[in-house]
Amino acid sequence: MARFDYDFFVIGAGSGGVRAARIAGRHGARVAIAEERYFGGTCVNVGCIPKKLLVCAAHFRDDFEDAAGFGWTVKPSGFSWRTLIENKNVEIARLNGVYKRVLEAAQVAIFEARATLLDRHTIVVGDRKVTAGKILIATGGWPTVPNILGKEHVITSNEAFFLDEMPKRALIVGGGYIAVEFAGILFGLGAKVTQIYRGSLFLRGFDEDVRRHLAEEYVRRGIDLRSSTNVVEIAKRSVNGSSEYTVDLTDESSLDVDLVLYATGRRPRTQGLGLEQVGVRLTPSGAISIDEAWETSVPNIYAIGDVTDRIKLTPVAVNEGHVLADRLFGPAGRHLSYENVPTAVFSTPPIGTVGLTEAQARERYGDVHVYKTSFRPLRHTLSGRNEHTFMKLVVEPKSDRVLGVHMVGAEAGEIVQGFAVALKCGATKAQFDSTVGIHPTAAEEFVTMRDRYVPKTEATN
Ligand code: FAD
Ligand code: NDP
Repeated sequence: MARFDYDFFVIGAGSGGVRAARIAGRHGARVAIAEERYFGGTCVNVGCIPKKLLVCAAHFRDDFEDAAGFGWTVKPSGFSWRTLIENKNVEIARLNGVYKRVLEAAQVAIFEARATLLDRHTIVVGDRKVTAGKILIATGGWPTVPNILGKEHVITSNEAFFLDEMPKRALIVGGGYIAVEFAGILFGLGAKVTQIYRGSLFLRGFDEDVRRHLAEEYVRRGIDLRSSTNVVEIAKRSVNGSSEYTVDLTDESSLDVDLVLYATGRRPRTQGLGLEQVGVRLTPSGAISIDEAWETSVPNIYAIGDVTDRIKLTPVAVNEGHVLADRLFGPAGRHLSYENVPTAVFSTPPIGTVGLTEAQARERYGDVHVYKTSFRPLRHTLSGRNEHTFMKLVVEPKSDRVLGVHMVGAEAGEIVQGFAVALKCGATKAQFDSTVGIHPTAAEEFVTMRDRYVPKTEATN
């Protein structure tokens, strides 16, 4: 008889957990998974998928406006937030079912309950106790809101996807992916949007030119974007039966808004899992501490995805789950590198990026060559929209290798995905140059940038 009830017990059926369980099941392991809230996790329910649907919805505003220059007469457009949310909910429910069926097809036992660790091989799941040879913690993260006066009045992205009504005036706090994306969404859907960021320029960690370009686009669109600003206090008032919030800011101004959305980061979900009693160590920032093989301080317990402190993106969690399951239960062939992980910010216009920023490249290689361009995309010559696309390549001069590809502009994520393959293959600038472009596209600019950018100070030396 087997020593344990299962070979592999996965806690959390999100991006990483589902993939790990499914692959382990396919390799013939006896697998179980516990999910306490929703199948598909953050990405499917309150992350990537509903977010991208909202971004699509918001973009129609631009599309309607742009149509006139192409001869179309668009009748005054109306928008129903309720219809959008209802339709989105139907699609998410469909995906929840798909995720569950995928697990069932891989013979994974499903527990729709919260799971916690009792000892290194025993899990309490709902009102049952089960044992497993290996355990994977893939419990993801949860939004964090700092302790400000009036904290009880704010919402996070979790709630933003289920609002009863579209706010007419919104304050968004934060300068990361979520804040920037929601500023674009709510503005596109018709809200008056103020976005405040505590530092000097939002999207810390992205290429400086990219950050500056998007900030300019946001301001030009009409988003009230404020840097070096934070919240002092939020007070709630009732106006004609509905709630309104007065927010005092550190720039000594005060705003009246219908919604305050905090997007100030996400914390790994480790609380109440029994980690301490089992001896699973955390990092100083509260993530589960793991080695290169995703093993925690307890040898048969592993952790992947947002509950660790690696890159918090769905494809990363999915790949971690896949590689780990292969290594534990099947032929190990897949490899995951944390270098050159492409990413997109679904702002309006979006950002697509892969590889090193100019600053990172200079730090690592000293001298680097930069190629950049900003242009009005063909579409906007007729639409009349004053929106510019920005593209940048960072190149290591000695090897001629392209180290970074950065873009702000329509379909940036779609375009940069392909260039990520080129970077993975170690493509050189000469190889970019010898690639024939597809005309007329914006993407062709990446293979036609010939003139190296020379900063004014360098040019005059
Ligand atoms: P999760 O997907 O969070 O899954 C964890 C699961 O564990 C959850 O279902 C949870 O209910 C369950 N769970 C937790 N504790 C327990 C327990 N004790 N017992 C049982 N179940 C438990 N990434 C992208 O790549 N692209 C995007 O466009 C993108 N957009 C995003 C937009 C938003 C608003 C947010 C919040 C995130 C976005 N992300 C995006 C990030 C992405 O969603 C995460 O990186 C990804 O979901 C992490 O996967 P995971 O498996 O680690 O955790
Ligand atoms: P981020 O960590 O990306 O950004 C948090 C932001 O909040 C930063 O601008 C930070 O400022 C600011 N902040 C932190 N603490 C405070 C505070 N006390 N007061 C004011 N501002 C504060 O977190 P998000 O919540 O935006 O997203 C979480 C993660 O989810 C992302 O990092 C990303 O990995 C993933 N994600 C991916 C998406 C995608 O792929 N398109 C979309 C959405 C999320 P500072 O810069 O100064 O630290």
